[in-house]
Amino acid sequence: GSVIGILGGGQLGRMLSVAAARLGYRCHIYEPAANPPAGDVACRVTTASYDDATALTEFAGAVDVVTYEFENIPTEALDLLEALRSIRPCRPALAISQDRIAEKDFLNGLGLATAPYARVESRADLDVALKTIGTPAILKTTRLGYDGKGQARIMAPDQAEAALAAMQGAAAVLEGFVSFSHEVSVIAARGLDGSVACFDPGENVHEAGILRRTTVPARLSPAQRSDAVLIAARILNALDYVGVLGVELFVTPAGLLVNEIAPRVHNSGHWTQNGCAVDQFEQHIRAITGWPLGDGSRHSDVVMENLIGDDIAKIPAIAGERHAALHLYGKPEARPGRKMGHVNRVTPR
Ligand code: ATP
Ligand code: MG
Ligand code: MG
Repeated sequence: GSVIGILGGGQLGRMLSVAAARLGYRCHIYEPAANPPAGDVACRVTTASYDDATALTEFAGAVDVVTYEFENIPTEALDLLEALRSIRPCRPALAISQDRIAEKDFLNGLGLATAPYARVESRADLDVALKTIGTPAILKTTRLGYDGKGQARIMAPDQAEAALAAMQGAAAVLEGFVSFSHEVSVIAARGLDGSVACFDPGENVHEAGILRRTTVPARLSPAQRSDAVLIAARILNALDYVGVLGVELFVTPAGLLVNEIAPRVHNSGHWTQNGCAVDQFEQHIRAITGWPLGDGSRHSDVVMENLIGDDIAKIPAIAGERHAALHLYGKPEARPGRKMGHVNRVTPR
């Protein structure tokens, strides 16, 4: 049987490994941190840093295809791996999603709408950007942000200095604050043969910058729903993408704006585990191994709730609920803001 190499050993790598095992594949995780959540279920784990050329070379030699569960993999590591094995999804998708400005330039180049944005590397840049974009606005580091980290809101110009200080010297992007009615995401997949399949859009609620809940069906008109799916398909085709992609969208009266894309399985797609015959994890494994894409049509309504930090206290009660599927990540310690698991509450359609 073939071996799938996964860069990153978090919960996404764990659930990818479970899905791969169901299809008869073995997974080999590459992760710098000790005892990663994916390590419990994968067949092999390499614990080494991304600048360890020997470990990377050995990893590539031991796997048939390389994929990843997070986007911030150092370029040098990817260069080394790519010389030895196929990386799916492809490098350009990673490069674009690693940099919020490259991402927005790419999206606008495809004719897709985003928030107005401007590069900020100095106080002078920020003053100019605030003049054109106005307030409220959000300053974000261009790289390495997740779960709302590396962001500062600017409600009025007198908050500019503090927001800039919060970037800690990193390059940033100022985004106009989008007054959206709600947020949705499309989890989409593209196969090696170029076929595209999208899961039904989910509606997302964030708390303190972290995804709290995803609900399907989302509140969308039929026209908005097809717009959302067409946006995702356009991105997949433009990148000649292979695998699963998450597209975060703001719903506004003027239409859908793209917030960001994630070139991987996505937290807002966890509902598919209990709402579809083939979930996002299996879909990703199918895509990168050249299988036909699976049936991702939705057979149930689902509310996915993340279990974050102290939410683990709710687990005994949830375990006794009807129509509730628990997915726990096996993390030893519940720290504030740490995703410990999720629950899918299911209602057949
Ligand atoms: P993720 O964990 O999804 O990768 P992230 O750290 O990359 O998060 P964003 O998705 O950019 O951060 O922002 C997190 C949340 O903050 C968004 O889902 C949205 O609720 C809010 N937000 C971000 N940008 C804007 C904006 N320009 N206007 C209004 N709200 C925004
Ligand atoms: Mg992000
Ligand atoms: Mg986001």
